[in-house]
Amino acid sequence: MAEETVSTQAPLPEPESRPCTSSLPHVGIPGWLDPGTSDYYKQAARVGVQELLQRRRVYLNGFTDSRGNHWCGQCFWRCRLMDLGERLGYPALDGLRLAAGTVAWLRYAREVGVVRIEDAVRFVERLLRSRGVSLP
Ligand SMILES: [Zn+2]
Repeated sequence: MAEETVSTQAPLPEPESRPCTSSLPHVGIPGWLDPGTSDYYKQAARVGVQELLQRRRVYLNGFTDSRGNHWCGQCFWRCRLMDLGERLGYPALDGLRLAAGTVAWLRYAREVGVVRIEDAVRFVERLLRSRGVSLP
C-alpha cells in the first residue's frame, strides 16, 4: 500500500493539446481526475492508482470519431453520436430534428446541449438495435 501512496505523487503525463471539435464552453476536468483534490485520492483508493492514471490519460487524450474529428474527454457522447451516425449512414431523424448528412450531424454533435446529445445517442442506439446491430 505504501507503494501506491508514493505513486500518487509521481509526475503525470502531459495532456494532449489538440482542440476539441465542439466549440461549446467546457466545464473543466472533473475533480476525481484532478490530482490533489480529495475526490482524486478517494477515487485512487477505490480503483487503484494505475487504473486512475489510465482513466485520466484517456480523458485527457480525448477521442477521435470515425470521420477523424477530435473530441475532448468531456465530449465522449458527441464523438459516440458521430460514430453511431456513421453506422446508420447519417440519415435524417425527424424525432431529433436532425437533418441528413455528415455536415448536419457534425453541426448537431458540436452545438447541441449535453442533455440532448445523450438523448440522441440513446435514440440512435435503440434504432440500431431494432435493426439487429449489436453495440458495445
Ligand atoms: Zn470537448
